Amino acid sequence: RPVVGVLALQGDVREHLAALAASGADARPVRRPEELAGVDGLVLPGGESTTMSKLALAFGLMAPLRERVAAGMPAYGSCAGMILLADKILDPRSGQETVGGIDMIVRRNAFGRQNESFEAALEVDGVEGGPVEGVFIRAPWVESTGARAEVLATYGDHPVAVRQGNLLATSFHPELTGDHRVHGLFAEMVRSAR
Ligand code: GLN
Repeated sequence: RPVVGVLALQGDVREHLAALAASGADARPVRRPEELAGVDGLVLPGGESTTMSKLALAFGLMAPLRERVAAGMPAYGSCAGMILLADKILDPRSGQETVGGIDMIVRRNAFGRQNESFEAALEVDGVEGGPVEGVFIRAPWVESTGARAEVLATYGDHPVAVRQGNLLATSFHPELTGDHRVHGLFAEMVRSAR
């Protein structure tokens, strides 16, 4: 079974661990560089990207995260995690850095405030069996993508699921639904990268 970590500094870690376990992965929380070294792939959860970025810097995880991603470790980011995997944030808060890796620019909180959260049925390339229920909570959208990033799903005029090689990102939160097909796709990416 592939060992898949969930970055456990802040955010909806438990939900991702459960979705990964249901997808056949050996799922573990990752808080320290030694724990990162032991995983085949990593999920960056939903939550608050500024907080996660600051904690990753404080815990000495930012540099090892960038190194592993640059070396080809599969990573999947949902919502705040999508922001962390973007090469560029349109409107970063001060002190906010990203891990980067996906050639895209994201806009934080693009779909509005917490009370404007919504769900939408989305066709996602690479996910078979009908639309995925996309849960959007203060979600980012993708403002633009570079040539190497492949758009897997759009909502309105904006990409909301993107893949670049071993990296996957969604604006929405499949970990908050009972549908584990997106985590299944990621687990498969980790298996084939091993
Ligand atoms: N708005 C949050 C951020 O900028 C993301 C929200 C989420 O992950 N649900 O990090």
